[in-house]
Amino acid sequence: MEESVSASPASRPRFAPPALLGSHSAEHYLRAVTRGADRVASTVQAVDAPFSGATPDDLEPAVAAVDLDRPVRSLDAALDEVERLYLRDAVWFHHPRYLAHLNCPVAIPALLAETILAPVNSSLDTWDQSAGATLIERRLVDWAAARAGFGEAADGIFTSGGSQSNLQGLHLARDEALAAGWHLGRLRVLVSEVGHFSVAKSADLLGLGKHAVVPVACDDAFRMDPAALREELERCARYGLHPMAVVATAGTTDFGSIDPLHEVADACADAGTWLHVDAAYGCGLLVSPRRRALLDGVERADSVTVDFHKSFFQPISSSALLVRDGAKLGHVTHHADYLNPASAQVPNQVDKSLQTTRRFDALKLWLTLRTLGAEGVGELFDQVCDLAREGHALLADDPRFDVAVAPALSTLVFRVRGADDAAQRHAREALMAAGAAVVAATTVGGGQWLKLTLLNPQTTVDDLAEVLDLVAQEAAAFAGHGAAAVEEVAA
Ligand SMILES: *Cc1c(COP(=O)(O)O)cnc(C)c1O
Repeated sequence: MEESVSASPASRPRFAPPALLGSHSAEHYLRAVTRGADRVASTVQAVDAPFSGATPDDLEPAVAAVDLDRPVRSLDAALDEVERLYLRDAVWFHHPRYLAHLNCPVAIPALLAETILAPVNSSLDTWDQSAGATLIERRLVDWAAARAGFGEAADGIFTSGGSQSNLQGLHLARDEALAAGWHLGRLRVLVSEVGHFSVAKSADLLGLGKHAVVPVACDDAFRMDPAALREELERCARYGLHPMAVVATAGTTDFGSIDPLHEVADACADAGTWLHVDAAYGCGLLVSPRRRALLDGVERADSVTVDFHKSFFQPISSSALLVRDGAKLGHVTHHADYLNPASAQVPNQVDKSLQTTRRFDALKLWLTLRTLGAEGVGELFDQVCDLAREGHALLADDPRFDVAVAPALSTLVFRVRGADDAAQRHAREALMAAGAAVVAATTVGGGQWLKLTLLNPQTTVDDLAEVLDLVAQEAAAFAGHGAAAVEEVAA
């Protein structure tokens, strides 16, 4: 029987150095990670564009051609392959002209943490798999909750990202509503019309149905209009519906706009509604030396989403859900005899988490705070917000562009004046294809706009000016070409 599952010892594949980490292989481990770090360092040093412009068609054949059943054996050969399939055409968030999504250049102390947490491989679900790691995560949760202005009863948990944090926050709100006797089909979630799509996805996953999310109108600066919120809350009451949660966004993904937290909290208090603040983007304000006041009122939330992998310059993943009354996290507690029996006398983080096996991502934030300091991180976020202001002045003074709104945080939403939607899209695609810059796109009032998300303090206002020139040139070239094509057709 054994013969049928294993080849003879001689023909069995051999990996030259010991394959697994152990006391006998510490040297091999060190050599392996040093080689990886060397490769990344030399690649990063040589990067002179945020992207190569590669298309899926360019890369797909090479990835498909790899025979996963035929290992190359040597680490160097495997690394060469990774360089060819991935590194050479990676999208580089540290490059000053990467200006697209909420991705940040990563803090070096956090990368040091990655070299520690991966080999040790602690799992944060139970004390008996993590020991001190559990205590470090809990200290960071307490620290972040205190920064948010929560009291002693607060608690929270690290998550994989803002989407999971939003899901768990809304899960708590749902279970509170069910415990109060409300029927699932009558529950509603109110969020501004520019809130994050993970709110709708969460409502759907929580069984609330596709129509459970009620969009609330915004003011001219894309902030939730508190009068509109009160109207929607009253409308729910009139129809016998229960607004189980209001989601206020502290830093909308497109505009960085911050909903008026005190007025939203007042409306929630009057309606007896759970307030969840989605600060996935705006959480950097918690440590900002100059802008913390923008988050005033967040302390009145029942739950808060923070994404350290956005405005705290952390490598993905690093996020948390903070809860004002930590006891509410009990809504996700389930016990398994083999893992976390109810009789356990030790801190088991799985009791508060949607995940079971879970990385020690908290170590990255820990080493970042212990070296750069909280205000050091906040200063970096302040710098990108300052840069957005300068970028806004550029756009506002330039007759080639329209700009949607003055930036609340660090995004700029704009379009090339006089160019149609197709020309805006073309400009973005052309810059990406040339690797000259990576910018984002979104819609405002149904029209096509472009977006710069600034999360790199190494980007300068000159970088912005250059990218804006390129955008204007590409849009104009497209318009000229389009007009010529129309003339050709007419002739
Ligand atoms: C990015 C973002 C999210 C989702 O966070 P992930 O970490 O990508 O899952 C949620 N809300 C807002 C406002 C965001 O900007």
